[in-house]
Amino acid sequence: MQIYETVQEIRNWRKANVREFQTIGFIPTMGCLHEGHLSLLRASIKENDFTIVSIFVNPSQFSPTEDLDKYPRTLSEDIALLKTLGVDVCFTPLLNEIYPQGIVLDITKQRGPFITVLGMSEQLEGITRPNFFRGVATIVAKLLNIVSPTKGYFGQKDIQQFIVLDTMVKELFIDTKLVMIPIQRDDRGLALSSRNKYLSQETLEISSNIYRGLSNAASKLTDLNGMISRQMLLDIIYEIWTPFVESGDFEVDYISIANMNTLLELETDDFRGFTVVFSCAVYVNDKKNIGTKVRLIDNIIIDNI
Ligand code: AMP
Repeated sequence: MQIYETVQEIRNWRKANVREFQTIGFIPTMGCLHEGHLSLLRASIKENDFTIVSIFVNPSQFSPTEDLDKYPRTLSEDIALLKTLGVDVCFTPLLNEIYPQGIVLDITKQRGPFITVLGMSEQLEGITRPNFFRGVATIVAKLLNIVSPTKGYFGQKDIQQFIVLDTMVKELFIDTKLVMIPIQRDDRGLALSSRNKYLSQETLEISSNIYRGLSNAASKLTDLNGMISRQMLLDIIYEIWTPFVESGDFEVDYISIANMNTLLELETDDFRGFTVVFSCAVYVNDKKNIGTKVRLIDNIIIDNI
């Protein structure tokens, strides 16, 4: 596996190794790799002649109040893991290659091009993290321009991110097809996340109820062929979540039942004809490490009711 830090090295590697008819799969990550990331890698390795993974903790998607310095970084373990999997190139770009004019977190002081995908960045995750998708769209556009992959692989775990990026790629005519890979979960159902490592076993167990709530509501929607009210679906979720809210384990940031194509809320009692996405963010307070609060996200898609 080659490890490169500059744009020029990636371009040289492409010129020397990739023929016109060959395909490249690309997986952008922020490192601290887990089984969730690996499912993206495996799909890419299976479907393409070459696979490139990037590891870059992107400052512009963090707000000044979020702790960029505390984001877990495990670069040498990540590289050792990638070597065992059949990845061709690991790209760990230098900060000044990606942001030649430098980068500060205060957006009023930033310089250079930034991309905003309007209409789908403001709601859900965008409420607590107003400039998050601007940062994500910008870094992914830069990486796609550097790597020029045939396909880019992203996780359903970050469903809003996928919708934002898919729209960006299509409407900026970037010549890469984005592929969404299903959420990888542990045996309790909890979605795998780099942030799970901040939580004790007991709290991870409790956190699996986030998925249980969503999944009970999603099953009911399917069982009733879409003929159920939004309020009843919310009640099913809260039936599972309320004990944990009352005990202080969960603080619900949002629950959304939205149209997957527009990310607009579905206020209806007839979901037939929609692809419905249940999504949520919940702050989990760790039971053992008092003061540790982790924001977990999850979602379920119910296709073509
Ligand atoms: P990150 O390193 O957190 O930016 O994630 C890199 C990619 O891995 C994103 O496309 C995520 O959606 C994806 N990912 C993270 N966790 C999971 C998971 N549990 N299942 C599937 N994909 C995931």
